Amino acid sequence: MIKDAAGIKNHLGRKLLAWYKHHQRSLPWRKTNDPYRIWISEIMLQQTQVNTVIPYYERFIKSFPDVRTLAAAPLQDVLKAWENMGYYSRARNIHKASQIIVNQWGGRIPDNLEEIKTIPGIGEYTAGAILSIAYGQAIPAVDGNVRRILSRLFAILKPVDDPREQKNLRDLAALLVPIKHPGEFNQGLMDLGATVCRAKNPDCSRCPVSGLCRAKHHDLQNILPVTKKPSTIPHRQSAAAVIRNSEDRLLVVQRQASGLLASLWKLPGGFIEEGENINDILRHCVKEELNISIRVGRCLASVDHGYSHFRLTLQAYNCRLLKGNPEACTCQDWRWATSAQLKNLPMSNIDRKILVEIARSSPLS
Ligand code: SF4
Repeated sequence: MIKDAAGIKNHLGRKLLAWYKHHQRSLPWRKTNDPYRIWISEIMLQQTQVNTVIPYYERFIKSFPDVRTLAAAPLQDVLKAWENMGYYSRARNIHKASQIIVNQWGGRIPDNLEEIKTIPGIGEYTAGAILSIAYGQAIPAVDGNVRRILSRLFAILKPVDDPREQKNLRDLAALLVPIKHPGEFNQGLMDLGATVCRAKNPDCSRCPVSGLCRAKHHDLQNILPVTKKPSTIPHRQSAAAVIRNSEDRLLVVQRQASGLLASLWKLPGGFIEEGENINDILRHCVKEELNISIRVGRCLASVDHGYSHFRLTLQAYNCRLLKGNPEACTCQDWRWATSAQLKNLPMSNIDRKILVEIARSSPLS
């Protein structure tokens, strides 16, 4: 494989760079070599589609135009700017990382592989993207798209999601990146994967490197890449309490500073395991979070959301406060919020969705 890579390296580089020059996608972060902007775009593009990212990226850069502005901003503002894009650990890492970059690196993103990978949220792929695009270093940026292209180009029949094979593919990519224009080469691979060598129905007739492609030669392009058997995604349930005070404000809590959706706001409540009584568990969760007793009434709304490792159904129940004043026991903070205040609190997609459903069936005044 390594010998094959060395044999086609120059040819592949020339073809891909020529194609990229004329067919690259016009994206806002392509208009700059600023490592900060490239870093933000690469983090946003993890697990999120390009078209979704564009407006978020533009708003984010407007609010936080450089690393010092981001480092000085409250985390809640950063989470709010990220709202509905999901995978909120990315926003928390970006914020934490910006403070490290300012305090330890004088506001400059490090330009070598070992140092840049010490920054929270910057792994092998993101490091490669920043170093090659912003700093012009011949380092690969290997994500799922690039693994797919390489598995087809070299007709690799081993599972591309196997850690050993991923290491082999990284080594292979490292051999292919040219010294000249490494950033354009890596972006060319990204664009080829997004527009031509797609996961389903690769368009080999438009491919600039089809003459070098073994999958095409052996008619394997529709069965590659090979992956391990997918595991079945579990379906989890959770319940939330809709508690209003005499001024018709809604009781909301801020999640803890670590764990799933950390520091975002939500209705009080928690997960329900199979066979558990929703009423009992909801009362128990609210007691644990806020040290108050409630009566659980009818279900007001139900919404679904898919996460990377599980699917979640969240049901909201109309509840009445029976005893106690809220205290932040297992949450960071709590408040009685008006509908206007709710709009300004950073929340996950599913928590925002359930509020919309509740407002439909029983609006706040
Ligand atoms: Fe992908 Fe087809 Fe190009 Fe091979 S020829 S790299 S399978 S698009």
